[in-house]
Amino acid sequence: MHFNLFNQSFRIQMCLLTLLCSALAGCVGVTAGQESAVVTRAQMQMGTLVKITAVARNESIAQAAATAGFAEIRRLEELLSTWIPASELSRVNSSAGVAPVSVSPDTMTVVQGAMQVAEMTGGGFNIAIGPAVDAWNVIEGQRIPTKSELEALRPVVDLTSVHVDARAQTIFLEKAGMRIDVGGIGKGYAADQAVAVMKKAGALAGIVALSGDIKTFGQLPGGRKFPVGIQHPRKEGEVIAFIDLDDEAISTAGDYERFFERAGVRYHHILDPKTLQPARSCQSVTVIAREGIWADGLDTGIFVMGAELGMQLVESLPNVEAIIVDHGGSVHVSSGLRDRIRKP
Ligand code: ADP
Ligand code: MG
Repeated sequence: MHFNLFNQSFRIQMCLLTLLCSALAGCVGVTAGQESAVVTRAQMQMGTLVKITAVARNESIAQAAATAGFAEIRRLEELLSTWIPASELSRVNSSAGVAPVSVSPDTMTVVQGAMQVAEMTGGGFNIAIGPAVDAWNVIEGQRIPTKSELEALRPVVDLTSVHVDARAQTIFLEKAGMRIDVGGIGKGYAADQAVAVMKKAGALAGIVALSGDIKTFGQLPGGRKFPVGIQHPRKEGEVIAFIDLDDEAISTAGDYERFFERAGVRYHHILDPKTLQPARSCQSVTVIAREGIWADGLDTGIFVMGAELGMQLVESLPNVEAIIVDHGGSVHVSSGLRDRIRKP
């Protein structure tokens, strides 16, 4: 997973927390109500700002739940980050073309989920994209790889050469030079898992927000749902819609935070596996689903598919909704969301 410090879709989360804090009337860290306490804390994890809000019967439970949430994300980062040489995914990558690598159930779940999203999105989502992501290195490099450089990578950006053996719990990358990158799905899974441990620790409600990958559970004191704002992909600080989340995950993939421009052309971090160039058909894709793993995987895959095919896919999936801003800036809203969104 290419977690780095310049994460896209930061705004959606800022919006969420601003709204939440005003909803909680004066929350600064802890708000003690009659029967509940609300704790909000933030830390840098997975290369991004992670904010956790926990609602519990009292402050010590809320604090413990938030601590457990952060610890869970750290644990997953150590398995999935390709920046950590000893992580499971780094070991899978360094064994490409050599041997299958045993992995934990979490890594297995993320990679299997990624394979499913790949199938759903007609290959728009493709975790074998790693070598091309490295060639572009959008934030640090800011250089455009040559056509021949990208052509040379084509044989290793090959999902059919990723072998996932569920029985043996191993992953094998068949060709030397292959690298898998779960940056497009891992933060959503981390949000799911953090929520699970927070519930176990006694939280009644909460939010886990890894930048733009957000999962909520339960309700705010007073029975209110968690409000989120969806960032306009071209007007910084402007929101295109608000929505209340109800035990749901929301995730945005956009071309507007991790990008550079050259001769008026925008180069960003979501690549079309067919061209190995930045995908051109959308400005942003926001997906709402029950689980963060699907919301996060689908936002990236649908970004590549484009608005028309992407919306067809969303309409065919139960409990999945989307707001897609296409390349021309038109906003497409899935049928199940039309009555739920509020215009600013
Ligand atoms: P983030 O919230 O970190 O920006 P996204 O969900 O928008 O994540 O996914 C972008 C990341 O996914 C990229 O940084 C890269 O690591 C990876 N990626 C880029 N293109 C693809 C693709 N076509 N399929 C799967 N993953 C991709
Ligand atoms: Mg994603």
